Amino acid sequence: MAVKKRTIRTIPQERTPAREQDAVERVKNFREVNCGYTQENALREAERCMYCPEQPCVAGCPVNIDIPGFIQKISEKNFRGAYDTITDTNLLPAICGRVCPQETQCEQVCTVGDGKLEPVAIGRLERWVGDMAIAENWTNIPYIEPNGLRVGIVGSGPAGMACAADMAKAGCEVTVFEAFHEPGGVLKYGIPDFRLPNEVIDAEIDNLVRLGIRFECNTLVGRLFTIEQMVEEMGFHAVFIGTGAGYPSFMGINGESLNGVLSANELLTRCNLMRGRDFPDFDTPIQPGKRVAVIGAGNTAMDAMRVSLRLGAEKVYCIYRRTLAEAPARIEEIHHAEEEGIEFHWLTSPVEILDDGNKGVRGMRCIKMELGEPDDSGRRRPVPIEGSEFEFEADMIVYAIGTNANPIIGQTSRLKLNKWGYIETNEGLAASIAGVFAGGDIVTGAATVIEAMGAGRRAAQSMKAWLGLRDTEVVYRDPPDGPVDRPFGFDPSEHDFALVRIPAHSAATTTGGAPA
Ligand SMILES: Cc1cc2nc3c(=O)[nH]c(=O)nc-3n(C[C@H](O)[C@H](O)[C@H](O)COP(=O)(O)OP(=O)(O)OC[C@H]3O[C@@H](n4cnc5c(N)ncnc54)[C@H](O)[C@@H]3O)c2cc1C
Ligand code: SF4
Repeated sequence: MAVKKRTIRTIPQERTPAREQDAVERVKNFREVNCGYTQENALREAERCMYCPEQPCVAGCPVNIDIPGFIQKISEKNFRGAYDTITDTNLLPAICGRVCPQETQCEQVCTVGDGKLEPVAIGRLERWVGDMAIAENWTNIPYIEPNGLRVGIVGSGPAGMACAADMAKAGCEVTVFEAFHEPGGVLKYGIPDFRLPNEVIDAEIDNLVRLGIRFECNTLVGRLFTIEQMVEEMGFHAVFIGTGAGYPSFMGINGESLNGVLSANELLTRCNLMRGRDFPDFDTPIQPGKRVAVIGAGNTAMDAMRVSLRLGAEKVYCIYRRTLAEAPARIEEIHHAEEEGIEFHWLTSPVEILDDGNKGVRGMRCIKMELGEPDDSGRRRPVPIEGSEFEFEADMIVYAIGTNANPIIGQTSRLKLNKWGYIETNEGLAASIAGVFAGGDIVTGAATVIEAMGAGRRAAQSMKAWLGLRDTEVVYRDPPDGPVDRPFGFDPSEHDFALVRIPAHSAATTTGGAPA
């Protein structure tokens, strides 16, 4: 269909707002805050895309979704076509449309947002298409010819899921091992329902099951069996590790061992995955605080604060040693938290957690900060102001100051790790054991859902090359320093594995990481 040329003057000038649950009501429930677009809203917002030839939004998306392509299909009312276009590159549109930081990715570089106007609401449109696909039960299951190769995936977060999907589509028999009792990674245990409902995650995971992927939950790899056993004894021709970075950090100040001090990941897991919020319908209660202080100002901190409110806290404080300008959380999340009555204490750092005399928390001693010269991260360094210490009351302290690599795989395998405990890989995400790949937060440290998905897909591409499957690219361009495994008896950095084709072979004929 011929498309009438749109210009910055002819498109609707105002960005179409999304409906939201009222702040006073929503703090009493776990229902979704952002209610998304109606069809009318989506058609109007789609009119704002100018289909610019340079398409900066596509380059701004970590998985390069054809953004103008899917928006054009919305405009043409070809909604199924819009879904097909998105799922060419992103298998979780209803999830990414909700939680991706579009304001710093595709929307940040959207031409419409260059001047006075707000950028096209790409994320809201993506979510609308993803939700329609769930409502209509659309899937994109290709014809898959089994190739006899077995792939093991460790961790069922976005990185593991993305890798699993691509390998299943290539004809491999894929098994995903997950330590928790449900798949989904942080999407399931960390991000609360009011931002990302469980039904949405389950619906998107169903699509993976329809691809033939098997999920083995309650399976802690490294304890039940090791990575080496997977490639040497269990018959997996290749393995992907996407175990994330969920190991919480603490500050090491006095009082951290008191009852009532916990990490945001623990609070969120107990509430979301263990369904503590639904006690007594679920027999896993959670002890909510009345006055809760959350340390940190990232997405995890915002989630922990807003969950605490919904669990019944009377007062929730955000304690952050820098200012709003440096806060890592999405601006939309900070805005929602403010609307819900969270009290923000910027330029404030904890010094000690105070004992109530009964091994519980009675409050916190903090010190005021000011910003000094920029540090290694480029942000201005917070410096304590002498004599500015003060105390305030709290009965629960939640740490949301960052996380580290989940350590078990590193402790139980001979994989090469960097000094922070993250898995070392080359550019193609191959790890130091032949046939083993890794990606997502366990390689980069805490990042985003879409970046983890992108890594899972990149690793899948390398894995396909390793296995001699089609759609390959040169993989081993940048091997890690030091000794590397020598699959097929030669140094992978000197050869283009894409050219190596191996016949389909069964698990029984395979020994070691390299297909025999
Ligand atoms: C509370 C919170 C809110 C967030 N909000 C956002 C947001 O709004 N937008 C955004 O883009 N990003 C957000 N993030 C970051 C994002 O969720 C992560 O970057 C992303 O989930 C990383 O994906 P992953 O697949 O690498 O790991 P994860 O999602 O962490 O998944 C790893 C999985 O591996 C499993 N596992 C670990 N060890 C083992 C083992 N030994 N054996 C078997 N299984 C194992 C874990 O149980 C987990 O299920 C948030 C993170 C948190 C914690
Ligand atoms: S940059 Fe914005 S206006 Fe241009 S194609 Fe992308 S979404 Fe449309």
